[in-house]
Amino acid sequence: MTHDELVTILNDYDIGLSNGMVHKDLVFATAKALRAVVQLHNCMNKYCGNCGMASPCFTIQAIEKELS
Ligand SMILES: [Zn+2]
Repeated sequence: MTHDELVTILNDYDIGLSNGMVHKDLVFATAKALRAVVQLHNCMNKYCGNCGMASPCFTIQAIEKELS
């Protein structure tokens, strides 16, 4: 799957949320995908276990920002 295809899925997700037509399977799949990213970017130590940046890495910072 390309980056553009992933963005298209996320855009469809946003549209589905805004019009109340998002399917629950997509909600679960999106949460599962987010969990996979958080687990991949394990920032429980001084440096991210995936990208090696100081913890929290930019990926985790971006997720935290959107969830706050
Ligand atoms: Zn990272």
